[in-house]
Amino acid sequence: MRIEHCFFCSAPSYPGRGITFVRNDAKVFRFCKSKCHKNFKMKRNPRKVRWTKAFRKAAGKEMAIDSTLDFEKKRNVPVRYDRELVAATLTAMQRIQEIKTRREKAFYKARMAKAGVKSKAREADRLAVHRNAHLKASIEAQKAAASSSAQKIRVKAKAKSALLSTSSIKPMRSPTTIASSSHPRFLLPL
Ligand SMILES: [Zn+2]
Repeated sequence: MRIEHCFFCSAPSYPGRGITFVRNDAKVFRFCKSKCHKNFKMKRNPRKVRWTKAFRKAAGKEMAIDSTLDFEKKRNVPVRYDRELVAATLTAMQRIQEIKTRREKAFYKARMAKAGVKSKAREADRLAVHRNAHLKASIEAQKAAASSSAQKIRVKAKAKSALLSTSSIKPMRSPTTIASSSHPRFLLPL
């Protein structure tokens, strides 16, 4: 007895369960449930649907490259029944499963550790902003003051340029650049 896998979600599909679709080029598609069959009929790509194994493997959420995954393969060469071979296969299956679960656990742990580092950094940023909320008002006041002073300077420069009748754009720019560079100083203290 062969346990087929669903074409869409890769779940095991036991005999008598789900639907088998044979395309007119003789390619066989197995579906474990009507949900998968419907998604196939909607021409959805299993790699782009988040709940499928194909998506999880493509997105690095599950172990995709591992020697334990190569044991489960479709083999079309019939093997003559041999009691010893069956016994050896059964013990090997158990051992492979043990190794596979251990590796999957390690993979999951590493993935979660990485996610934890990311979320911790995000939380620290959020806390820093929350703690320094009182600085926000002063920064805004500073900004407003800077912009108003820049405007004043600009007006002065305009008047000056009008007087001199030369295009002096460069002195106009400098006060605004100084004001913008002074902002980060207020964000730093923790
Ligand atoms: Zn399925």
